[in-house]
This record gives sequence, structure tokens and C-alpha cells, in this order.
Amino acid sequence: MVEASSARDLARRQLIDDIGTFIIVHGLDISEANLTMALGICTGTNVALARKVVDRRASGLPMTQVWLDEQCRGNEDSVERIADKLERSLESFAATSRDARATAAQYNSEMQAQVEQAGEHPEREEIRNLTVLAMAMLERTQYLEQEMRRSESEAAALRGSLAKARRDADHDHLTGLPNRRAFEGLLERHYREAQRDLDVLSLAFCDIDNFKRINDAHGHDTGDRVIQAIAGALSRISDDNCHVARHGGEEFVMLFRGLRKEEAVHRLDAVRESFAGRNFVNRRTDEPIGTITFSGGVADVFAYPSTRDALKAADIALYAAKEQGRNRIVAAD
Ligand code: GH3
Ligand code: MG
Ligand code: MG
Repeated sequence: MVEASSARDLARRQLIDDIGTFIIVHGLDISEANLTMALGICTGTNVALARKVVDRRASGLPMTQVWLDEQCRGNEDSVERIADKLERSLESFAATSRDARATAAQYNSEMQAQVEQAGEHPEREEIRNLTVLAMAMLERTQYLEQEMRRSESEAAALRGSLAKARRDADHDHLTGLPNRRAFEGLLERHYREAQRDLDVLSLAFCDIDNFKRINDAHGHDTGDRVIQAIAGALSRISDDNCHVARHGGEEFVMLFRGLRKEEAVHRLDAVRESFAGRNFVNRRTDEPIGTITFSGGVADVFAYPSTRDALKAADIALYAAKEQGRNRIVAAD
């Protein structure tokens, strides 16, 4: 018993070592995404990625963060492709089933009329035989017609679920805002377009100040409503060129197409100022919550070699805003 458990511990230790080695050797950040990828690669459960890593090693090219991120985006794209394909198949299945049912229904009623007529002359044996056969066929096609109707409504329900799963996959449940995954897609798209059109592009990280205190003093539900209130305030300035997403927890991320860093700071600061001027009350207990503030960090995307570096710069600026006393928006260096 002791040996078995120590053998298991040894294997677990080995796995932790392998994951650590993978992260350190390739100079990767210790992030949730990288740890998940390393776990999939070291245990072989992420077969596709493990294979790509082996090929990459064999080719002698470096295993960089950018390369790894691309491989994972590839996976998400392929899920999208499968969903597209499934949606198209469901659509064509429903159309085929609808046609087949309509044909069966028409054929049934004509057949019914013929069978009734034939039944009026039961004196000839072949007519009697044909009538019995036709009655059996009618029963069968009527059953099939019902089954097709059921399949059609099942296909419609499945298409509805697929559309909902798609919406859920890129929206945050609490605020209804795009989530981090969707934001990454938006950022890549605007990055490409802005680069092509020689347009400016800024991004911002916002984080609620001392949010833990609000949760501790008024409860998690009130905390949730505060997150919704800030999401609402940030959404009010969003349009086709300004996007806001919930990055996670009490953190939001924004994208300003066509706005320079200073202009984005100005725009976001106006939201900050107006939000900080409101007085909140706990709806459940009528207890005053007081003011709620947030801080932000803004970076000019094209001042950095990649969107990843720009995000990091905005995050560092946010940290500076917290250091300087919170309730302020700071531009990245
Ligand atoms: P700072 O000003 O430095 O940002 O301080 P803070 O208290 O806001 O930051 P900290 O990171 O210490 O705490 C964030 C808290 O946010 C902790 C976590 O429980 C809470 N939180 C994260 N997600 C949610 C959520 O969806 N709902 C609620 N109610 N709380 C959340
Ligand atoms: Mg935070
Ligand atoms: Mg916070």
C-alpha cells in the first residue's frame, strides 16, 4: 500500500517536474493558459498540441509564446469550423426532411383516395390484394411522415442550441459583455485593419478599486451588481470603434480604434469621473455603499511589437494608477 502510493507520488512529482521544465526551458509565463497547455502536452491528453510540439522540436524552431498562442487559436478556429459545418448540415437536413414530408403527405392523400375507390370493387382478387398492400404502405408512410416531422423539430431545436452555445462562448454571463476570448478576436481584427488603414489604436485595462472590501462588507451579490453597474457605464461609450469586454473578475478591457493614447485616457477619464460621482446604496438592505471607483491603464497598441506587449503595457499602467492612489487613469510610458 505504501509502495503503491509512493510510486503514484513519484509519478505525480515527475509530471510536475516535466511541466515546470517545459515552462522554464521555453521561457514561458506562468499563466493559467500556459500551465493548461503544458499539462496537456506532458500527459499527452492534448494529442494535437503534443504532436505539434514534437514536430516543432524536430524542426529546430523555438517554442515561443506567440507560436504556442497561435496553436491554441488554431484549435478555437477548428471548433468554429465544426460548428459552422454542423449548422449547415442541420439546415440542409431540415430542408430535405421538410421536402420529403411534404411529398409523403401529398402521396398519402392521393393513395388514400385510390385505395378507397378500389375498395368499392372488392370482387376482383388482384384488386383485393393490391388494396391490402396499399393499406400497409399507407400506414408505414404515415408513420414516416410523423417521424420526419419530429426530426425536423429536433433539428430546429439543435440549431437553436448551437446558436445559443455560440453566443455563450463569447459572452460573459454576468454582464452580457464580450468575454476575454471574444475580445482577443476583436483586438486581432482591429489590429490588422488599423495597421492596413494606418489608423491609431489604443487599449485600456480597468479594475475596480478595493472591490474586495465591497464584497466583504455587502456580500457577493452586491459585488456582482457593482460589476454590472461598471460594465454598463463603460458600455455607454462603446460603439463600432470602441469595444469593452469583461477580462475576468472585476477587470475590464477596452479597445479604442482611431483614438490616440491621450484621447483614450481623456474618454475613459470622463467615465471614471462621472462614475466616481455617484452614490451607491445596497438595494437589499438600504445600507449606503458610498462611492465606487475604478482605475485604468491605457497604451497605444502600435508603440509595441505585439498586441501581447501592448496589453502588458496597459496592465503596468493600471498598476501604476493603483500605486498612485487609485481612482485615476494612467497612460503607459
Ligand atoms: P485593488 O484596488 O488593488 O484592485 O483591490 P481589490 O480589492 O479590488 O483587488 P483584489 O484583487 O484584492 O480583489 C478582487 C476581488 O474581486 C476578489 C474576488 O473575490 C472579487 N471578485 C472577482 N470576481 C468576482 C465576481 O464575479 N463577483 C464578485 N462579487 N466578486 C468577484
Ligand atoms: Mg483585479
Ligand atoms: Mg480591484
